[in-house]
Amino acid sequence: MQAAALDISNRYRSPRNPERKVRTATTLIILHTTEAPARSSLNKVSDRGECHFCVTEEGSIYAIVDRDREAFHAGRSMWCGKEDVDKYSVGIECVGYHDKPMPMIQLKAIAALVKELQRMYKLPDQAVIAHSHVAYGAPNKWQKRKHRGRKRCGMLFATRTIRQILNLKARPAVDRDVRAGRLAVGDPYLEKVLYSNVDYLAKNYSVKMPATPVASKKKVPPAITSKPTSSKPTPPKRTSSAPPKSIADLKAQGYVLKGTILPDKTAAKLVGAKWNSADTYYTIRNKIYSGKEVNPAKFEKGMSVWRKK
Ligand SMILES: [Zn+2]
Repeated sequence: MQAAALDISNRYRSPRNPERKVRTATTLIILHTTEAPARSSLNKVSDRGECHFCVTEEGSIYAIVDRDREAFHAGRSMWCGKEDVDKYSVGIECVGYHDKPMPMIQLKAIAALVKELQRMYKLPDQAVIAHSHVAYGAPNKWQKRKHRGRKRCGMLFATRTIRQILNLKARPAVDRDVRAGRLAVGDPYLEKVLYSNVDYLAKNYSVKMPATPVASKKKVPPAITSKPTSSKPTPPKRTSSAPPKSIADLKAQGYVLKGTILPDKTAAKLVGAKWNSADTYYTIRNKIYSGKEVNPAKFEKGMSVWRKK
């Protein structure tokens, strides 16, 4: 690595290093989210040799597996018809979660590391993608076909805001494996994040965006800003439009149980094409998901499906 600006620690070098094959090609940089706090993340990726670099919330960069050797980071994966992405990619684990903002200092460190790797391997911005871009699931009880959407790992790195911060100007425009029929769409929400303009972390950053030609700006009514008249905060009124947060809320809002997901009773069989609409809800183990946010790859036996009559 060019030591120019990057300070990379060897403290968590993987003991797996010597046994890993040297890669013959490098055409992708894959960004992951560890979905766990820093210390346990570093120990895990190092023990198992699961990435080339790990970047913590404080912006510290650790080298795990030699960058020219294979790290086992992408699992069951495919990109443009080529399976086993580990064989032709560098993997960066970023401590954090796919649906939560990351500290700016961490994003800056990721940006610097990515730029350096792009320079070394001569890779364009479109080659810097998320694990969820390339991961796919095998057919299972819930998905008859091989499908994209096995996980949402690194999903935030596809959003405009985060790519702007990372100074990545382009991203893949389509999922060529889905286009070619090699994979089905297993997670429609993920597909939207990866390939359209769902920018769910935008409000967490003040980032100047270049103008987009496609943005059709609808007039939005001004948000209701009622100043509290006393210092005592008043609890927000529960209206019927507040999203339900429990089975009790669902019942109070007139939702009825449409059935329970079983291997032969899929969500689509229970509620038809509305399975992924915002007013369909799924509950399991005290958790509640709307059809818009539910990950169909995670449908499981015993999930209750709710809709209004
Ligand atoms: Zn991952």
